[in-house]
Amino acid sequence: MYTVAQLVGGVWGAGGSGGELVVCDPADGERVTWAPIATADEVGKAAQAARETAGEWAATAPAERAAALHRAADAVAAMTDELAAAVTAEMGKPLADARGGVEAGIGTLRQYAELAPLRGGRTLQGATDAVDFMTPQPRGVVAAITPWNDPVAVSCGLLGAALVTGNVVLYKPSERTPGTGWLLARALDEALPAGVLSLLTGGPEVGAALAAQDVDVIAHVGSTATGRKIAAAAAGTGAKVLLENGGSDPLVVDAGVDPGWAAQQAALGAFANAGQICVAVERIYVHRDLADDFVTALVRRADALRVGSGRDPGTELGPLVDRRHRDHVHGQVTAAVAAGARVRTGGELPDTPGAYYPATVVADCRHDMALVREETFGPVAPVVVVDSFDEALTCAADSPYGLAATVLTPSMSHAQRAWRELPVGTVKVNSVFGGAPGGAAHPRRASGQGFGYGPELLDEFTATKAVHIEAPGGGHW
Ligand code: NAD
Repeated sequence: MYTVAQLVGGVWGAGGSGGELVVCDPADGERVTWAPIATADEVGKAAQAARETAGEWAATAPAERAAALHRAADAVAAMTDELAAAVTAEMGKPLADARGGVEAGIGTLRQYAELAPLRGGRTLQGATDAVDFMTPQPRGVVAAITPWNDPVAVSCGLLGAALVTGNVVLYKPSERTPGTGWLLARALDEALPAGVLSLLTGGPEVGAALAAQDVDVIAHVGSTATGRKIAAAAAGTGAKVLLENGGSDPLVVDAGVDPGWAAQQAALGAFANAGQICVAVERIYVHRDLADDFVTALVRRADALRVGSGRDPGTELGPLVDRRHRDHVHGQVTAAVAAGARVRTGGELPDTPGAYYPATVVADCRHDMALVREETFGPVAPVVVVDSFDEALTCAADSPYGLAATVLTPSMSHAQRAWRELPVGTVKVNSVFGGAPGGAAHPRRASGQGFGYGPELLDEFTATKAVHIEAPGGGHW
C-alpha cells in the first residue's frame, strides 16, 4: 500500500487539494496506491519555487552535482526491492522484469554521474589575443512527464540527465504508477539539496498544467497524442520540447530464415512486458515461403507462455496495466477480425479478475488495418504475408511512426538496405532486442523528437554559449 505525498519547494506533503487518485493492482483489482492530485495553482507555485532554486543548483560545481547523483544512485539501489514491488503492484509486469528496470535506472544514474563532468565545450581559434570558447550551461527548469510502462528506468534517465547537468526538475510520474514515482523521488531527494527536485502527482490535467508553465524544457516520454498536446503548449511558452513517443515497430521476416527462430524472435518482441514496450514488435511482415510454418510456431510460443500475477516468479505474461488499456487492445483486435483477419490464438477477454489479456496471434492481416498501423501496446502479433523483401520493406517504412524496426534476414544486402532505407530511429538486424549500452537515436515523425537516451541526452538539457573575450581597449589586461 502506498500513500503518496507531493514534494514542492523542498517540502514533502505540500498541496494535493485537487483530490485523490487510487491505483488498483492489475493482477487482482485490489487498491494499492492513494495519491494526491495537484491543482493548477499548486503546479504554478511549484514552478515558481523551482525557478527560485535554479540559480544555486546551476552554480554548483559539476563534480559536486555528479557526486550527488552517485549518492542518489546509491539511495535508489538501497530501495531496489521496494521499487520493483511497487512497479509490479501498480502496472503488473513480472517482478524480475521490474527489478531489471530498476537496475537499468540505477545504471543510467551512475553513467550520467560519470559522464556529465567530462563533457565540455570547444575552444575556438579567433584573434591571437582573444579567448574564444563554447560552453554548455544548464537550461534552468525542466518538467519531466513520464509514462507507466517502465517507470523507473525511463524516469531515472530523464531525471538523472537533467539534474546532473544543473537543472532543477519538476517530476510528474504517470497517474498509473504514482507510488513508484513517489518512492523514486524520495530516494533521489535524499541526495539532493532541498528544492532541486519536486514531485507533482495527478493525471493528464496536472501534466497539462505543468506543460503550460514558464519552464525551460518539457521532457515527455509517453503517447504521441500527449506529445502533440505538449508541443502545442510549449509553442505558447517557448519551452524546448523533448518527445519520446509511441511507435508501431515492424518486424520483417525474410525468405530463407528458420521459421522457428523467427517465431521465437517475434514472440519475444510482441509479448515481453505484455507488449507494453515502446519498441515492441507491433506488426509482422512475413515472406509467403515460410508464413505457414512461422505462424504455427508463433502460435505454439504464445500458447506456451505462463500467464499470472507478476508476483509469481514463474510468470512470463502478466496482466495489462488496467482494463481501460485492455479495452483499447481488444478493440483493435476485434476491429481487425471484423475486417477479415483471423485470430489464431488468444483474442478473447478472460473471465477473471484483473486486466489479463492473452498472448494473441492474428493472421491474414492487411497493412491498412488499425491493428497494424496504430500502436496497440498489448500482447498481440498481427501477421501480414508479403511476396518479396521489397514489399516488406515498403510496408515497414509506410507508417506515421518512426521509432524502431527489426529485420530477420540471412542476406547481407537486405540487411544493408534495411538500415539505409527504413525511416526510423533504430534498426535491428536478426535480434529484436539487445543493442550496445549508451545507444541513442532520433525518433522520427509521430515517435517524437530529440535524444531521450544515451550521453546525447546530457546535451539536450544544456544550452551552448559561445564566449569571446578581448582585453579592454584592445590592449592588455
Ligand atoms: P501518456 O502520454 O498518456 O502519459 C504519459 C505522461 O503524460 C503521464 O504522466 C500523463 O499524466 C501525462 N499527460 C497526459 N496527458 C497530458 C497532457 N495533455 N499534457 C501533459 N501531460 C500529459 O502515455 P502512457 O500511456 O503513460 O505511456 C504509453 C506510451 O508511452 C506509449 O505510446 C509508448 O510507446 C510510449 N513510450 C515511449 C517511449 C520512448 O522512448 N519512445 C518509452 C516508453 C513509453
